[in-house]
Amino acid sequence: MLQIESLSVAYGCIQAVKGIDIQVAQGELVCLIGCNGAGKTSTLKAIAGLLPFKAKQALFKHDVNLLNMPAHQRLRHGMALVPEGRGVFTRMTVLENLELGAYSRHTGKQASKADLANDLAYLLDTFPRLKERLNQTAGTLSGGEQQTLAIARALIGKPDMLLLDEPSMGLAPMMVEKIFEVIQQVHLQGMTILLVEQNAHIALQIANRAYVMDSGLIDYTGLASKLINDPRIRETYLGQA
Ligand code: ATP
Repeated sequence: MLQIESLSVAYGCIQAVKGIDIQVAQGELVCLIGCNGAGKTSTLKAIAGLLPFKAKQALFKHDVNLLNMPAHQRLRHGMALVPEGRGVFTRMTVLENLELGAYSRHTGKQASKADLANDLAYLLDTFPRLKERLNQTAGTLSGGEQQTLAIARALIGKPDMLLLDEPSMGLAPMMVEKIFEVIQQVHLQGMTILLVEQNAHIALQIANRAYVMDSGLIDYTGLASKLINDPRIRETYLGQA
């Protein structure tokens, strides 16, 4: 689904990402973890088209070339970003936020009202908290509910792949667990996901594979189930000896 070779990102003379390779297969949940300032968000923003980057190769769905492609065109090709801080429209209702997401549908043809109603009903069954709050303004939702709304809004656009940037950011621990249940559920329904997450422990619990970044480079990579038991990862990234 995603094939990135030798990706570099620089802010002026600061080299934030130093030529890394990332692959995500269809249906995989891959996480990018690492300490503060490791380059995780810069990597995700580059893949999403929000930062200029260099790469030997950057392909989406085998033949969509991401090099020099503006962010909005990625959406049209089926790549959706849920940004750090969620980006929901706080003065609009939950329903209006979801309807906006439907406009970004990338299938090329306008979805019929019946299709949209079906998709909305399916999403609201998946996220019952949103169903209960459909006519509430998004600004009155809790942080976790806003994050769920941001994910649901991306999903109603029917993307082929989701990029999630720090979904646990600013959430209470119980909310973090809830949001990771939501992400896991979305993945189990077949979505391909690249997840950037500061909370390595919880990310490794739901991911298939992980890339561990340090100082702009990939330090380790492998199956999440292996990394979570690796003594070096436990000590450095999970705070456990
Ligand atoms: P965090 O989890 O703290 O966001 P991160 O792994 O996502 O960390 P990045 O935010 O990608 O890391 O930052 C990577 C490096 O790039 C850091 O050294 C950071 O200081 C630097 N950096 C990030 N954004 C900018 C910017 N707008 N201008 C200059 N340097 C930046």
